[in-house]
Amino acid sequence: MIAEKLLLNVLIVLMPLMVMSFFVNDRKESQSKVILTTLLAIAAVLCMVFAFEEQGLYWDLRYVLLVLAFLYGGRRAGWIVCGVILLTRTYLGGDHIIIGYVVVVVSSTIFNLYANRYRQVNQKWKRVCFVISLVFLPTFIQLTLLTIYLQLLGDFQYQFGQVIFYIFVLMGTLIVAVGFATLLLEQMLERRRMQEEMERAVKMNAISELAASIAHEVRNPLTVVKGFLQLMQKDEKGKNNDYFSIALCEMNRAEEIISDYLNFAKPHSKNVQVMEVNQVLREIVNILTPYALKENVELKIEGSNKTTVRSDQNQFKQVLINLIKNAIEATPKNGKVNVDLEEDKTVVKITITDTGKGMSNEQLTNIGTLFYSTKDKGTGLGTMVSFRIIAEMGGTLRYESKVNVGTKVTIVLPVDSNILHNE
Ligand code: ADP
Ligand code: MG
Repeated sequence: MIAEKLLLNVLIVLMPLMVMSFFVNDRKESQSKVILTTLLAIAAVLCMVFAFEEQGLYWDLRYVLLVLAFLYGGRRAGWIVCGVILLTRTYLGGDHIIIGYVVVVVSSTIFNLYANRYRQVNQKWKRVCFVISLVFLPTFIQLTLLTIYLQLLGDFQYQFGQVIFYIFVLMGTLIVAVGFATLLLEQMLERRRMQEEMERAVKMNAISELAASIAHEVRNPLTVVKGFLQLMQKDEKGKNNDYFSIALCEMNRAEEIISDYLNFAKPHSKNVQVMEVNQVLREIVNILTPYALKENVELKIEGSNKTTVRSDQNQFKQVLINLIKNAIEATPKNGKVNVDLEEDKTVVKITITDTGKGMSNEQLTNIGTLFYSTKDKGTGLGTMVSFRIIAEMGGTLRYESKVNVGTKVTIVLPVDSNILHNE
C-alpha cells in the first residue's frame, strides 16, 4: 500500500517538471520562476493529499518539492512552497501536526542555507548527489523526532519491521524522485543556456561581420591619406612639419587598431607557413627599437636558434608587436624590456620581461578579456587577439606580474617537426 502511494507521489513530483519543459524555451526567467513555483506548490499539495496515511502520520515526498523550490526557484519560491505545505498540513489535520510543522520549517531553513552553496556546484552529477543528500536530511530529522516523540508518549504502535520497511520504501522513492527531477531540471537549464548562447553568438556574428566590413573599407582610404601625408611632409620645412608627424602617428595608430580588430573579427583568413622564430623575432625587435628609443627604454633580445613554428606570419608578428609594445608602454624611462628565446626539443619558449609598472591580481585576471584596457587611448584588443592567435597555433600565453616590479609574458609554442622545406 505504501509503495503504491509513494510511486504515485513520484509521478506527482515529476509532473510539474514535464509541464515546465513545455514552457522553458520561450519564457523569460522571471516568468518561468513563477510557473515553476506554482507547479511545485500544486504538486506539494497533491503529494500530501495522496500521501500514505497511517495513525495520523503522512508518508509522502513533499520534501522533494520543497528542496527543488529552494534550489531551482530561489528563496522566495522555497518559502512559498513551505507556506503551502504548512497550510495543507493544517487542513489535513492529524495527530502529530506539531512535528509536521517543526520538520517543514527546520528543513526549509536548512535548504535556504544551502541554496547559495548549491549554485556554486558546477558538475551535473555532483549537483544531483547534493540534492539527494540534502533531501535525506528532513526525512532523517522527521523519523528521529517521531521515534523519540512516540517513545515518550508510549504509544509506539508500529512494529519495528514495519517501520524499517516503510523507511526503506520512502528512501527508495525519494532517491528515484529527486534524482530524476534534478536531472530533468538540469537538462532543462542546460537547454536554455545553450539556446541563449546560440542567440548571442548569432547576434555577435552579425555585428562583427558588419564591423569587419566597415573596418576593411576604412583601411583603404586611410592608407591613401597616409601616403599623401608622407609625400607632403617631405616638401614641408615650416612648422607644419610637426603637424604632419602627429597626423602620421595617429594614422598609424588607427591602422593598428583596424588590423587588430580585423584579426579579432576574421581570424580565419590565414596563410599558414613554416617560419624561423628567431628571424621573425629579430625583425620585430628591429621594427620596435626606434619606438623603444623614443620612450627611453632599453630593448634587448637574447638567445638564438633555428627552431621553426607553423603559423600565419602576419598574425604571429602581430602578437609579438602587441606584447612587446605593451611591455614598452608599461615601462618608465630608463627601464628595460628583454626578449628571450629558448628551445626545448618539442617546444620553443619566448619570454618578454619588462621592468614596468606591473599588474595587480585583479588586472591579471582581466587581461585578455575583450576591451579590457587601463590606457586612455587603449583598446584592449591587443592581448585578446594575441591569446587567440597563440591558442590557434597550439601554444600557450601566460602572464606573471608584480606591481611596480614588472611583468613577464611567456609564450610557449609547439615546434614544427618538419625541417624547413624551402631551403
Ligand atoms: P591596450 O594596449 O590597447 O590597452 P592590450 O590588450 O594590449 O590593450 O592590453 C590590455 C591591458 O593590459 C593594458 O591596458 C594594460 O593595463 C595591461 N597590460 C598589458 N601588458 C602589460 C605589461 N607588460 N605590463 C603592465 N600592464 C600590461
Ligand atoms: Mg596594447
